[in-house]
Amino acid sequence: MSVENVLAKIKEENIEFVDFRFVDLSGKAHHITVPASAVDADTFKNGVAFDGSSIPGFRGIEESDMVMMPDPESVFVDAFAAHNTLNIMCNIFSPEGDRYERDPRNIAQKAEEYLKSTGVGTSAFFAPESEFFVFDDVRYESGQNVSSYSVDSEEGIWNTGREEEGGNLGFKIRNKGGYVPVSPADSTQDLRSEICRVLEEAGLVIERHHHEVATAGQQEINFRFSTLVDTADNLMKYKYIVHNTAIKFGKTATFMPKPLFGDNGSGMHVHQSIFNGDTPLFYEEGAYANISELGLYYIGGILKHAPALIALTNPSTNSYKRLVPGYEAPVNLVFSKGNRSAAVRIPVAAVTPKGARIEFRTPDSTANPYLSFAAMLMAGLDGIKNKIDPRQEGYGPLDKNIYDLSDVEKNEIRSVPASLEEALDALEADYSFLTEGGVFSEEFIKHYIGLKREEAKEIAIRTHPHEFSLYYDC
Ligand code: GLU
Ligand code: MG
Ligand code: MG
Repeated sequence: MSVENVLAKIKEENIEFVDFRFVDLSGKAHHITVPASAVDADTFKNGVAFDGSSIPGFRGIEESDMVMMPDPESVFVDAFAAHNTLNIMCNIFSPEGDRYERDPRNIAQKAEEYLKSTGVGTSAFFAPESEFFVFDDVRYESGQNVSSYSVDSEEGIWNTGREEEGGNLGFKIRNKGGYVPVSPADSTQDLRSEICRVLEEAGLVIERHHHEVATAGQQEINFRFSTLVDTADNLMKYKYIVHNTAIKFGKTATFMPKPLFGDNGSGMHVHQSIFNGDTPLFYEEGAYANISELGLYYIGGILKHAPALIALTNPSTNSYKRLVPGYEAPVNLVFSKGNRSAAVRIPVAAVTPKGARIEFRTPDSTANPYLSFAAMLMAGLDGIKNKIDPRQEGYGPLDKNIYDLSDVEKNEIRSVPASLEEALDALEADYSFLTEGGVFSEEFIKHYIGLKREEAKEIAIRTHPHEFSLYYDC
């Protein structure tokens, strides 16, 4: 949409406020709201000022002035504000008019430019499957929170103490209904349908929604693929709409990767492909999984750099509680057609040449979409540039269930990092694939590693509830 079209929309749709948004390093959105009467063509030239020193990971107090520059392509009407409000995503600039080097959207845009400069292709497409849990909103009930969940090991079902006190005497619906059960086991269909309706209003194209396999309340909604920055913008809209629709239903939604010990976590598998104009570059009929050599090299880059890459695609301490065997989350650095225990899967069912793609299953939704999509593209392009053949590098293909392999066979397979610290060590040792073409700067990577090490330390120094059952002597 052009600036003129946005200004016309403000008039025609009686917009009262314009909400200017940007995204911080951790992937959280921030906003400043301006009355629509104060927004004109100059706002799109001069931007909106904000204090960068109050945003974690941005500027120091001594150089805090920053400017949000609205991107007219990204507007959508807010479905939750009481006053008619238009939301608009912004790029961040210094007061001198330079792009801010730590703005995640800037890095994502540079990755798109870098792809073009390599001559490999013209666009990279991304489609995230961002799973989440919905819990009752217990904020106003004293003494109750989700940490009171416990598992009944005989029944294999989840109890909350709050809902099930005294056992399941009321013949209530089991909390765990399995994968894609119909209602009444799936009591969240209406919530998902409403989320999808609002997402479509915001311009996303919905492909499907379903209940996921974990305890009652795990959800998945799939929206259509797009280019890198556009998909990252869509993911920001998606999270905003999921969170706020859940609140309207008296629930809370969380994208935390592993909220419940002993049950499946929430991943964000990311489907990826490269096109040159209209030509898909990942398809070759008759090859293994119909994947082209170029597609295989892309996989090679992802798997070779995975330990470092995962510091950006799985950037929370909680991420590594999901990456354990037995819950459909990948643990092993191999590729496969169909095998869901592999880090990279090549979907083959109902795939057309244009739909040919790879699925990196490791990421979760604590990832900043701009940084993580950019990093995945950089890893894949490095694989293409250096012709990293994943078959020769010992990354498969492996079409057996990896969880069922013998110990000897398993020993030959490399694993994902076991903790955030391990992933950060890997990133410290391997980041030149990210700095190619100046996409990520060395300064940015060092700054990011420092911030994340702090976060890991904050968790490491706190007493964990399970330590009481191990060590509390009385
Ligand atoms: N929830 C699983 C994960 O943590 C994925 C389930 C699926 O294959 O969709 O990655
Ligand atoms: Mg899923
Ligand atoms: Mg998937």
